[in-house]
Amino acid sequence: MQRYRVAMDLDLISEVLADEPAYRSKQVWEWVARGATSYGEMTNLPAQSRTLLEERAPFSTLTLVHEAKSVDGTVKALFNTHDGHPLEAVLMRFRDGRRSVCVSSQSGCPLTCTFCATGQMQFRRNLTAWEILDQALHFKRIEPIDHVVFMGMGEPMLNFDHVVAAARRLPDLGVTHRRTTLSTVGWLPGLTRFIDEVEEPIRLALSLHAPADALRSSIMPVNDRYPLDDVLAECQRYFELRGRKVFVEYVMLGGVNDSVTHAKKLGELLDRNIFKVNLIPYNPTGFYDGSSRTTIAEFKDALHAAGFSPTVRLTRGRDIAAACGQLAATG
Ligand code: SAH
Repeated sequence: MQRYRVAMDLDLISEVLADEPAYRSKQVWEWVARGATSYGEMTNLPAQSRTLLEERAPFSTLTLVHEAKSVDGTVKALFNTHDGHPLEAVLMRFRDGRRSVCVSSQSGCPLTCTFCATGQMQFRRNLTAWEILDQALHFKRIEPIDHVVFMGMGEPMLNFDHVVAAARRLPDLGVTHRRTTLSTVGWLPGLTRFIDEVEEPIRLALSLHAPADALRSSIMPVNDRYPLDDVLAECQRYFELRGRKVFVEYVMLGGVNDSVTHAKKLGELLDRNIFKVNLIPYNPTGFYDGSSRTTIAEFKDALHAAGFSPTVRLTRGRDIAAACGQLAATG
């Protein structure tokens, strides 16, 4: 497949245009956010500025290496950063017309959740805000997008500043804050800053996956560092301060965390006014078996009996290893 460059670095663009009126870089951003694919299209910029940009600011922070399409319409893109680090982003197309982009916040991930493929690859580095935005922009050039989830590679709260800077620009691409979701394992330093500093109505999702510390630590080692009670108390603070529910993600691992007893414990652990539970069928990464449909249904019923209204996540892009937890930059 032909390699081509996508996207932009507005900081570099502002530097290159330092001698020009300040609104120039804003004009560039407006074009880019709308899905422009070259400086040449930016007809309200003087020809001279366009030439300067073409020479000095490559229209790129990412190189598209490979793109795969699933039978369900999902598209997975593998990119390299300019310094050669791999990352993936996924476009999900839903029947009701929703177009949701799942972006990566890091190349690889330093955490080692046992069920997630990204944790098995080498951690490279945090992505810049522009590298994050470029993932969404890549798909925006194909078709309008309306949701973004920070659920690709990496732990967003470990790259707080760049993740939040990127999220704050998403409305320019047509993605409102209410349709932007940041997902975390419960990395407390970042979570605390998110609650205290981000006033925009960006949604919060917590990867919980177990109703008690011992089990959670055995599948998510990060739990030893930031145990359940502390993380849940912080989520409660988010609810009290921001007035928005927290989504709980719970991956269904056969024989590990999926019994009715686990469901009952989960129901006791969580306040149903604060948390909305989303059950995730396990996507094969080689280590576990997924729970059967019946087991998932029984788990769901038990939560229902405890007063919750759990949902089961639609699995997308499994055939191209683009589903939750399958991103490992192997093409
Ligand atoms: N590090 C952040 C952002 C990644 S979100 C976080 O963990 O929240 C990716 C979601 O997919 C997380 O909820 C993760 O736990 C889940 N996941 C990981 N591996 C999975 C798998 N094999 N099957 C289904 N979901 C998985």
